[in-house]
Amino acid sequence: MSQNLPTRRQILKAAAGAASLALAAPVLRLAAQDAGIERLADDLFVVRIPGETNVLAHITGEGLVLVDGASAAASGALMKALAGLPNGGSVATLFNTHWHPEQTGSNDAIGRAGRTIIAHENTRLWLATDVIWPWNGRKFTRVPKTAQPNKTFYTTGELEPGVRYGYIPDAAHTDGDLYVHFTKQNVLAVGDAISGDGWPVVDYATGGWIGGIVGGLQRLQTIANTETRIVPGRGPVLTLADLKAQYEMYARINDRLTQLLNKGRGPGEAVAAGPAKEFEARMGHSDEFVRRSFESLWGYLSPDA
Ligand SMILES: [Zn+2]
Repeated sequence: MSQNLPTRRQILKAAAGAASLALAAPVLRLAAQDAGIERLADDLFVVRIPGETNVLAHITGEGLVLVDGASAAASGALMKALAGLPNGGSVATLFNTHWHPEQTGSNDAIGRAGRTIIAHENTRLWLATDVIWPWNGRKFTRVPKTAQPNKTFYTTGELEPGVRYGYIPDAAHTDGDLYVHFTKQNVLAVGDAISGDGWPVVDYATGGWIGGIVGGLQRLQTIANTETRIVPGRGPVLTLADLKAQYEMYARINDRLTQLLNKGRGPGEAVAAGPAKEFEARMGHSDEFVRRSFESLWGYLSPDA
């Protein structure tokens, strides 16, 4: 794993020691692709690989604790970035906030190395199953046993004093969402249960729904306080005020969609009603989000569900 990869420091040292100027170009390219690292505390960092979801890295005496692990394609780049953290060693524990491949791409390497992968039991079940998204036909193939979470839970747990985790049962994004609360640093990692970057994917194929987005935002507000830094799966670090604003927005959209459903309207009519239009300036084009959100209500609110 990371021990076998050169750290950025080693690469730069090697380049500096080399007489040939030819080495300079690849090193510059490497630097340009370098991960963005945001320090939240001496032992807690957000690692951003370009085009990837956020990874939270906690440095402990026993190795790194990660919340999410990027996609499989970026796993190598992530391990390299982690090796460059102060005292950044190998990964001891990985949390999967949910099953999506954008977050679980390092599972196989970490699982094979015999390290701990913690997830809600539903996340393990989805990773052990083939999934097809009905709205676009995207297919997800089950992962090998080595890449599946090897420590699952149902309600809450504590990894070590100050690292608490728990289930977000509202199904904001999937039916296996978890949060990790670093209480000493007052940092709350929430995966894609909250989006910090535009409209979220409403993955109703694995339980997510618009009512769950509202419920999750409400629940996570009870864990956070005004000083809490909230790390979503995508986008910048958020505050409790951001969660409140998001809650109000999604609650309004949810109410409008529920009314349309109760009037017997279909997804096309829901999109045409423009229930999220007023938020588009900030959030982006809303049609797909509205359609998915409306369809997500079928599984939860339809009388024959
Ligand atoms: Zn996701």
